[in-house]
Amino acid sequence: MNYRHAFHAGNFADVLKHVVLSLCLAHLNKKPKPYRVIDTHAGIGVYDLAGNEATRSPEWKDGIARILEADRPAEVDLVLKPYLDIVRAMNDGKALTAYPGSPEIARRLTRKDDRIHLCELHEADAKTLDKRYALDSRIRVERRDGYAAMEGLVPPKEKRGLVIVDPPFEHRDEMAHMAEAIKDALPKWPTGTYIFWRPLKDLWAAERFDTGLAEWLFDEEYATPENVLRVDLWVRDLEAEGKLAGAGVVVVNPPFTLEADLVTVLPWLCDLLKQEAGAGWRVDGALAEEDFEEDGAE
Ligand code: SAM
Repeated sequence: MNYRHAFHAGNFADVLKHVVLSLCLAHLNKKPKPYRVIDTHAGIGVYDLAGNEATRSPEWKDGIARILEADRPAEVDLVLKPYLDIVRAMNDGKALTAYPGSPEIARRLTRKDDRIHLCELHEADAKTLDKRYALDSRIRVERRDGYAAMEGLVPPKEKRGLVIVDPPFEHRDEMAHMAEAIKDALPKWPTGTYIFWRPLKDLWAAERFDTGLAEWLFDEEYATPENVLRVDLWVRDLEAEGKLAGAGVVVVNPPFTLEADLVTVLPWLCDLLKQEAGAGWRVDGALAEEDFEEDGAE
């Protein structure tokens, strides 16, 4: 396990993932009933942008830093508010040095009766999480494989909630693992919202994951096209060699407002965060049923 998220904290891919997570949690907060958050690959919760890793690899300067410095149109600001409020609160009017990971976003947006379950396999990172959240009785940290843990964690006692699956993609079969995880979890907890992060590195693998997942969901009647949304952002040509050019999430059972919110912010985000020619974005329920009807008929 060599992956250290501190090298990437606050980059364009984190921004998109964390905006989506914040919007999903803000939506869950609209109803008073408690809900559960399950974070299968949690990281360390808070990242020090002035620390060694982030200084050596200051990807955040082309991510969250650009957003905080930009003039934001009112409609964009409104959508980014739950996310940016957290970043601002953590930095308390001072220079940007603290950046929230997914556990911290969950901690700050959940309410007193909501529960958060964090899994982290890396020993030192799990200890950091444990220490960080020891005083918050709503949060449980487990040092274990998030995929294996999910089998027992789903369904939680709450009907509502969210699972975020954000693995490091150190292994070639990561997408297959993600697909298996949802096939196991969704039948047991069909009312949960599921967020799957994946890089746009091997475009064929990403497409196969997205369409394979959608096909399974539709075939098994666990979801209709309205219940699956994918959102991607790329900051340079996706075919270009070198650093990660694009990434995004597939959301199963998204809040009904998510697509419109993302369509509002993505053009602005793309324009602001682009690094080279060839940047782009997409928000689609393009995983449309008709794409699969033909296959089925063959
Ligand atoms: N979700 C975090 C966030 O948004 O702030 C970032 C997570 S980072 C991309 C992936 C994390 O998964 C790393 O901290 C890594 O140590 C951990 N990890 C790797 N394999 C794992 C596994 N099988 N189960 C749980 N955690 C794992």
